[in-house]
Amino acid sequence: MISNQSTHAGLLKELPTRTISPPLYRASTVLFDSYEDLKAADAGVYNGVTYGTDRLPTQRALERAMCELEGGALTRAFQSGIAAIIGVLLAFTKQGDHILLCDNVYGPSRAFSTNILAKFGIDVGFVPSTVGSDIEGYLKPNTRLILLESPGSNTFELQDIRAVSEIARSRGIVTVVDNTWATPLYMDPFALGADVSIHAASKYIAGYSDVLLGTVTVTEAYAAEFDRYYKMTESFAPSEDCYQALRGLNSLRVRLRQHESAALMLATWLSGHQCVDRVLHPAIPEHPEHALWKRDFTGSSGLFAFTLKSEPSAEKLAAFANGLEMFGIGYSWGGFKSLMVAGRHARSLPSRYAGQTVVRLSIGLEEPERLREDLDRGLLRLR
Ligand SMILES: *Cc1c(COP(=O)(O)O)cnc(C)c1O
Repeated sequence: MISNQSTHAGLLKELPTRTISPPLYRASTVLFDSYEDLKAADAGVYNGVTYGTDRLPTQRALERAMCELEGGALTRAFQSGIAAIIGVLLAFTKQGDHILLCDNVYGPSRAFSTNILAKFGIDVGFVPSTVGSDIEGYLKPNTRLILLESPGSNTFELQDIRAVSEIARSRGIVTVVDNTWATPLYMDPFALGADVSIHAASKYIAGYSDVLLGTVTVTEAYAAEFDRYYKMTESFAPSEDCYQALRGLNSLRVRLRQHESAALMLATWLSGHQCVDRVLHPAIPEHPEHALWKRDFTGSSGLFAFTLKSEPSAEKLAAFANGLEMFGIGYSWGGFKSLMVAGRHARSLPSRYAGQTVVRLSIGLEEPERLREDLDRGLLRLR
């Protein structure tokens, strides 16, 4: 049996090993070279990593990669996409503030705001899913933050980020964009004037449905404030997940191209299908905000939805879903496996699709023609 002592000594004698991917660091404790370094860490002036929650090198490598890709000033990683959103909401608000969320925002973002932020005396309001310069009418003197998600990941309405952020900036309001759908490759929120860009890296960035991770990137104006919040909460993202997300970033461009072309083929086919009412995909010309998509985006990803000409019974909808051979039934999206969710859009939510069944598809990396055949057979079961 090897004692810990000798294992450790052996490791230290090894030559540095050069690998293409960065090493995976796991740690609570990080050793200081000297007592003087410890004292520098105590005083907050140490240059290196002080502890596991101080963002280990694997996490820092991912943050650097995302920051460069997004063209921001500072990126911090979180243990999930929703943790990243919650981090942003808490970092930039205080008691007595008013915030605005777009109506089509990710459900848990809405739930956190109305259930938890409201509890701390934050006034939470909503703006239409297609808001633009009409944001003006929703602002209050104490509005501090606007959370946009364009397109919203269930009903795919777009906001005019440029118009909203221009008005917001003139009043010192933080414009936040959840940019998960487009990834950093297909839309640049900072070029449109936003201050904060959020990604659920669990989706396309990690790409294999086996990672939960989120990132937040901010402009220079908000870097110090956000860095301080992150330090104070001692948030961190697990090294393994940062490592997987870094691997995902290396293939993001080619994967997205496939997601994009397969989804466009299927969306176009569905828009001509006799059972389908509307296809909710911003890159399809019939989409109501198609012009906005063309102005602001350089591509589209693999997530879209459709509505049906006649409302299916619950039994028929179940038969449609259960009979699919290529599509898994499950939350989340952006992975290699195609997924579906479906449900009647709540009548209580202001939406074009209120009361209608929305079938959402995440198009994976399978042979597109096989996906089409599977959907074709599925739609027969809906009739
Ligand atoms: C999935 C999702 C999130 C949350 O990401 P998790 O990592 O699953 O917590 C946030 N925003 C959007 C638009 C999403 O689709």
